[in-house]
Amino acid sequence: MKLKTLRTLPPEALQGKRVLVRVDFNVPLEGGTVKDDTRIRAALPTIQYLVDKGAVVLLMSHLGRPKGRVVPELSLRPVAEHLAHLLGRPVIFVPSLEEAPEHLKTARPGDLYLLENTRFYPGETKNDPEFARKLAALGEVYVNDAFGTAHRAHASTYGVATLLPVRVAGFLMEREVRYLSQVRDHPEPPFTVILGGAKVADKIGVLESLLPKADRCLIGGGMAYTFLKAQGQPIGESLWDEASLEAVQRFLAEYGDRIFLPEDHVVAEEVRAGVPVEIVEDGIPAGKRGVDIGPKTIARFLELMEGNRTVFWNGPMGVFEIPGFENGTLAIARKLRDITRQGAQTITGGGDTVRALHAAGVRDDEITHVSTGGGATLEFLAGKELPGIQVLMEP
Ligand code: AMP
Repeated sequence: MKLKTLRTLPPEALQGKRVLVRVDFNVPLEGGTVKDDTRIRAALPTIQYLVDKGAVVLLMSHLGRPKGRVVPELSLRPVAEHLAHLLGRPVIFVPSLEEAPEHLKTARPGDLYLLENTRFYPGETKNDPEFARKLAALGEVYVNDAFGTAHRAHASTYGVATLLPVRVAGFLMEREVRYLSQVRDHPEPPFTVILGGAKVADKIGVLESLLPKADRCLIGGGMAYTFLKAQGQPIGESLWDEASLEAVQRFLAEYGDRIFLPEDHVVAEEVRAGVPVEIVEDGIPAGKRGVDIGPKTIARFLELMEGNRTVFWNGPMGVFEIPGFENGTLAIARKLRDITRQGAQTITGGGDTVRALHAAGVRDDEITHVSTGGGATLEFLAGKELPGIQVLMEP
């Protein structure tokens, strides 16, 4: 099956047509202004293309978790203003779904609208057919560019798509699917996977899917302690997940030769800024918890990142948000940039990982592909079917 994409639609399918576009404008707001517009910028190529082709463009997105009620602080109005500023053209904000038909009556080719937060309506997350029908009545063509919510079968990501016969992936969605499919299905070897972060359970599916294809898998961060525990090493008070222990034991038995775990650790009595830290080897003593990979592990991991053709990274190597616990994470981020310069295909994703990249001074365009998804990226790589993508496949 093949993803149907925006670039395959002929000009007449867009000229003068009302195009409903699901974007991911779930951006952080502060004092009524957009604090980080990465996600808005990521959708610009699709929006600009549709405007240039003379479509009437109606954008829709969720923002935060208003749980089916109108929460004024989660209004998309500031996003409409920010988008207008970025594009240098007016963006008409539509404060409610009920007002949309009236607005669209006078629409001309190239006009751009942004609908209020879809999650102000209880029908959105329930994929309510009536709500999906109301959305579908507004457009003739459906474009989805919101990869980050593609793992959810909501009215704006799934229900509405099933009701509009012309439904395609936008440029951002297409790019995500292209790079992530390559990692999942045909990673060019040598291929190294780097995983970290706190929640090992979220990454079991990715390990299941990528371990058989990877030459090496480097594991750091909080999830490493479940692996060390499975090996019988002392981990002190470090984070670990009993429910994942069995899967981890299986991975070690089957792929132990390609799994690399921390050999030394930065430990502290508490996970808090300003506490004294020390470096330990051969396990973690009682009363201490691992908060970052140690210097020997950093050196080893950086060495193992060399010479790869493909590297996928998700999850920080330590509690990088706290000063003193960030060295491992920042070193991996910078090394990822270096190997990209040397010709490796580097793919990374997840909110914390992207924040870590930026904290390390690495720009998105210095990495081959920075995925805009978190949960969606992990589910895609685990080989799960994502409803928001499935619905855009050609039969
Ligand atoms: P995840 O969402 O599973 O990728 O987890 C990301 C979070 O893992 C970040 O907020 C990190 O602070 C946290 N993390 C990384 N290493 C550790 C660790 N050794 N102990 C506790 N939390 C950690």
